[in-house]
Amino acid sequence: MSRCVVRSLVVDWHSDDEWCAEHPTLLEVTAGVSCWQTGGMSSTATSATPDTSVYLDRLAKVRVSMVEQNVDTVMVSVGHDLPYLSGYSAMPLERLTMLVVPRDGVATMVIPGLEAARVEPQPGVFELLPWGETEDPTAIVGKLAAGSKRIAVGDQMWARFLVELLPHLPGAEYTRAVDVVGHLRMSKDQAELDALAAAGAAVDKIAGELQRGEIPLVGRTEAEVSAHLGRRIIEEGAQKVNFAIVAAGENASSPHHHPGDRVIKKNEIVLTDFGGTMNGYCSDTTRCVFTGEIAPDVAEAYEVLFAAQAAGVAAATVGTPCQDVDRACRKVIDDAGYGEYFIHRTGHGIGLEAHEDPYIVEGNALPLAHGHAFSVEPGIYIPGKWGMRLEDIAAATNDGPVSFNNSDHHLISVDA
Ligand code: ZN
Ligand code: ZN
Ligand code: ZN
Repeated sequence: MSRCVVRSLVVDWHSDDEWCAEHPTLLEVTAGVSCWQTGGMSSTATSATPDTSVYLDRLAKVRVSMVEQNVDTVMVSVGHDLPYLSGYSAMPLERLTMLVVPRDGVATMVIPGLEAARVEPQPGVFELLPWGETEDPTAIVGKLAAGSKRIAVGDQMWARFLVELLPHLPGAEYTRAVDVVGHLRMSKDQAELDALAAAGAAVDKIAGELQRGEIPLVGRTEAEVSAHLGRRIIEEGAQKVNFAIVAAGENASSPHHHPGDRVIKKNEIVLTDFGGTMNGYCSDTTRCVFTGEIAPDVAEAYEVLFAAQAAGVAAATVGTPCQDVDRACRKVIDDAGYGEYFIHRTGHGIGLEAHEDPYIVEGNALPLAHGHAFSVEPGIYIPGKWGMRLEDIAAATNDGPVSFNNSDHHLISVDA
């Protein structure tokens, strides 16, 4: 596995690897920041940081859901529900940070004392409760939630925190916080849509560079091009690189290929799928280029892919079930005879997280609503030969589908 230089900047702080596994393909990144400083919506985020009223409004809606779902307490820690509800991203380390939200009464942010200064106070949203190095933070959380019968915990809260919490709240029943927070996070407000649009525009510039042949390909390894894309994502304003897949020729037939030592050759397809997190919100786009004159079988399939992706975006209107967007893409590919080579769902929701609800997949009958943002990314993968995918982030709005990725959608022959 390649080394992540972003992480190596803080390697003295932690010896564990796991929280950095999300961008293992980066060989080099020039930003002088660490993952935890930039993950999620930090208190230093600018344009996308809503004011206190936004968090008060979100917490009020969470409490309505808590009543409906018969949840007494919501607990969110590491992960994306915490910044969504408080504006603060926890450091993903062993010391516990936890926002404890009772159904009635004020929320409390339990935080390591040495990290309290990182938190921007949000008067009326939560009270800060720092704990000292010799205290047991799970006991503190247990006291705050005493008497709770049903507790909703964030998906990304670490198992160790929950396991340590269990003895402090005997008899409580646990459920996922996605039941009370997920539907709120799914419907983006205008500031969130603007943040997604800005993040998308930033990576579109990089796609344009690829398509104009400004990013050297032939003779470089996939990993080198991946590192190049990662560096550009940071230069274009993202604080964090989420992934930069580069897959050449036959490797492109593996949708989540891990860029490696494979050297890119002349006359083959190069699939790139990359995105970062900018001011808390994610980007994610896929474009393919061809290093030479496009082979006829590839050109023929790409026309189908192009039409399928456009059909998917066009279908993404308010009220349309998510699965119908998938069906719209799939029908075009099926009708052209490539159905068996479209081996994944059409898309995923996106926001604070690179993948979140709603999923654009058969079986998801959820009707799209204004503010739902998601990828539309059909692909055609011929095992051992080549693969192709075309991905935009789109949003359903009352004015129709909006695409946040607007770089050229064609397969472009590059001399690079
Ligand atoms: Zn990292
Ligand atoms: Zn992607
Ligand atoms: Zn995607």
